[in-house]
Amino acid sequence: MARLILFGPPGAGKGTQAVELSSRFTVPHISTGDLFRAAVSEQTALGVKAQGYLDRGELVPDELVIDMIRERLVQPDTQAGWLLDGFPRTVPQAHALDELLSSINQSLDRVVNLEVPDGFLLERLLGRGRKDDNEEVIRRRLQVYHDQTAPLIRFYGDRNQLTDIDGSAPVEDVTAAIQTALTAFFSQA
Ligand code: ADP
Repeated sequence: MARLILFGPPGAGKGTQAVELSSRFTVPHISTGDLFRAAVSEQTALGVKAQGYLDRGELVPDELVIDMIRERLVQPDTQAGWLLDGFPRTVPQAHALDELLSSINQSLDRVVNLEVPDGFLLERLLGRGRKDDNEEVIRRRLQVYHDQTAPLIRFYGDRNQLTDIDGSAPVEDVTAAIQTALTAFFSQA
């Protein structure tokens, strides 16, 4: 049983590490970015509402994200744990997650914070070639991260729930560092 948040700026490698972690802990990987991109490509009601925000590198309004997560965390496959990737991304989202978890009698175990300097991120994101990865949109996403998302480091740090990992190291080293840190955490817990 593990309930984890994978946290970090755009381009930190959350998606890659999430695949490893979700298989290591056998918990579903819940990526809000993937869920939004799927909704946009299927042109669901949610996708139609979210599209403009994604295209501009802005955050989708909290309410839409929170509703989507609430639906996901009451599904049968998330009752034995989960790995959140890309959520929460604002302080109000983090408060909403707290309320949601307490209402379903669950609690968060750990937040893994992938630390990567901005210079690396810009280079990685430019190399990735996703639809929302042109330079202007990338710069906007980095700014939005610093303004709205980075405050969560303090939020979870103050509660002693944060594990900082150097996300600029090679992929396998990052994976190993996360697994070592989480194994140590769960063996004490
Ligand atoms: P990245 O790989 O750059 O971190 P994601 O795939 O996590 O990006 O998210 C892509 C886009 O989806 C974001 O730029 C944003 O528009 C939207 N999005 C994803 N998660 C959230 C969230 N928790 N709150 C608001 N918007 C979100």
